[in-house]
Amino acid sequence: MSGLRDLKDDFLYTVCHDLRNPLAVVIGQAQLLNRALKSKGQEEEAKAAELILRNAWRMSQMIDMVTVSARLESGLAVTRRVPVDMCQAVRDAVERQEIACPCRIKFVTPCRQLWIKGDPVWIDRCLDNLLSNALKYSPPESPVDVRLYRSGDRVIVSVQDRGPGISPEETPLLFSKYYRASSSKGTEGLGLGLYISRFIVEAHGGDIWVESMEGSGSVFSFSLPAS
Ligand code: ADP
Repeated sequence: MSGLRDLKDDFLYTVCHDLRNPLAVVIGQAQLLNRALKSKGQEEEAKAAELILRNAWRMSQMIDMVTVSARLESGLAVTRRVPVDMCQAVRDAVERQEIACPCRIKFVTPCRQLWIKGDPVWIDRCLDNLLSNALKYSPPESPVDVRLYRSGDRVIVSVQDRGPGISPEETPLLFSKYYRASSSKGTEGLGLGLYISRFIVEAHGGDIWVESMEGSGSVFSFSLPAS
C-alpha cells in the first residue's frame, strides 16, 4: 500500500514540477495583457485577464505545495541555521496576510526581540500557513489573535481563530499528509499546509499542536528552541 502511495506521490510531483514553467508563462502573459488593456481603458477585457491571473496564481500555489512537500520529504531542504528574530518574523507575516485581509489579525503580544536559530524562509512559510488557515477557516469579519512568548527554553507562537473548530476525533489527523477535516468541505485546499508546517517545525527541533473547541474556534501553536 505504501509502495503505491509513493508511486502516486512521485507521479504527482513530476506532473506538478513540469507544470511550473508553462504556468509561469501564463501568469507573465496575463499580467502583460492586463496592464496593456488597462492602459487602453478596456476595463471589461482587463477584468477577464485579471481573472486568468488570479486563477493561475491559485494553481501555482497548489503546485508549490506539492513540490515543497516533496523537497521537505527528501530531508535536504531545511539545513540553514541563522539567528532569526521571531518578533520581526511574526510582524512581517502579519503584514503579508493583511494585504489580502486587512484589519483581521492582531499581534496581541508585541515584543522587541525573541531569537531562535533556523531557516528564515521555512519559518516564514510555517507562519504563513497557520495565519492563512486561521483567516480561511473562520468567518470573514472575525478576529485572529497571534501570540508570541518565551516559555523556559522554548519560543512559542500561537494563532487563535473564531472558526468552526475541529472535532476531537479529527485533531490528531490534521498534520497528516492530504488530511482535510469534515468542516473544511467547500473550502479549497490540498491538505498539505499543516503537514508541511509539521515538517518544518520538527526539522528545527520543535513541536506543533492544536487545541480546538467545536463551535468556538481553534488555537494552532508551535514551539522552537530559543537561542
Ligand atoms: P488545506 O487548508 O489546504 O486543506 P492544511 O494542511 O493547511 O490544508 O489543513 C488541513 C485541514 O485542517 C484543513 O483542510 C482543515 O480541515 C483543517 N484546518 C486547518 N486549519 C484550520 C483552522 N484554523 N480551523 C479549522 N480547521 C482547520
